[in-house]
Amino acid sequence: MAMSRSLHACERLSVPALRQLLRDTDTLLFDCDGVVWRGADALPGAAATLNALLRTPGKRVFFLTNNSSATRRGHADKLRRLGVRLPGGDEPQRSVYGTAHCAPLFLLQQQQEQQQQEQQEQQQQRPYKVYLIGSEAMASALEEAGIPFVGGPGPEVDLGWPPEKPELDPDVRAVLLGFDRHFSYAKMVRAVAYLRDPACAFVATNTDTCLPLEGDRVIPGTGSLLAALECASQRKAAIVGKPSEFMFECVLRAEKVARERCLMVGDRLDTDILMGTQCGLPTLLVLTGVSTLAEAQACRDSSDHERHQLAPTYVIDSIADLLPAIDEL
Ligand SMILES: [Mg+2]
Repeated sequence: MAMSRSLHACERLSVPALRQLLRDTDTLLFDCDGVVWRGADALPGAAATLNALLRTPGKRVFFLTNNSSATRRGHADKLRRLGVRLPGGDEPQRSVYGTAHCAPLFLLQQQQEQQQQEQQEQQQQRPYKVYLIGSEAMASALEEAGIPFVGGPGPEVDLGWPPEKPELDPDVRAVLLGFDRHFSYAKMVRAVAYLRDPACAFVATNTDTCLPLEGDRVIPGTGSLLAALECASQRKAAIVGKPSEFMFECVLRAEKVARERCLMVGDRLDTDILMGTQCGLPTLLVLTGVSTLAEAQACRDSSDHERHQLAPTYVIDSIADLLPAIDEL
């Protein structure tokens, strides 16, 4: 039934329609911020719903988050703390795909491509290092992946005024930007100096402009830092997180998942829903986060192709609405 409809129908689902959708789905991909939690607090009914899904034979659940300030393990610990009974025994982090985990995979792929090209051109292979603007979590994920880096968490050395020429590491082949609460002018000066070399790759975890917190608070997100660095370097970064398809590819590479039986669940049209669309998946928007029903409907009704791509297939108020449908599966 529902599956044959437009991917961008914005359809409000009744319990029987939700039940059918869940019968047609094996793997549910959930965004976290604004879907499962807001800041430090779980959204009402989130843990009960996820646990009911995890108990249902044949259903698998993965969490895809653009938030780069925690490691996979950190996100898994938070899910458990909020009451979600993750599978995987002492490896619960296997259910989590965050940008801190996926960024090194992206860089390793890029490194491989560069090395292949050097081989083809019979050049000597150069070392590969990264200049990191990011969190402790990103630093530890790079270490785990065996990618050496300079920069990293904490404040950058002040270069004075006017800034003196920063000393550059000749082995740096990529600038990686993620969430960094110590983001500064000094870090920008250094990153721009690396990025003046067109051969130096520019990679960012995500483009989320802001981050909703508990108590209706909103703080600037990685997208705001990225906009500053893109403006200063006059370059566009390659994006690891949603809406890029790369994060879903990471799941497909690591897990046996039938692509045509996946559903993407999220609260943001321009990241979660767009990623689902680009991967050819049906999408389910929840209204507990950033995007509103009016925005989704405006995208559905838009004649602009790019805007229309942001409209979700289905809409429910919150993840808790899935619970009655799961109980009757
Ligand atoms: Mg979100």
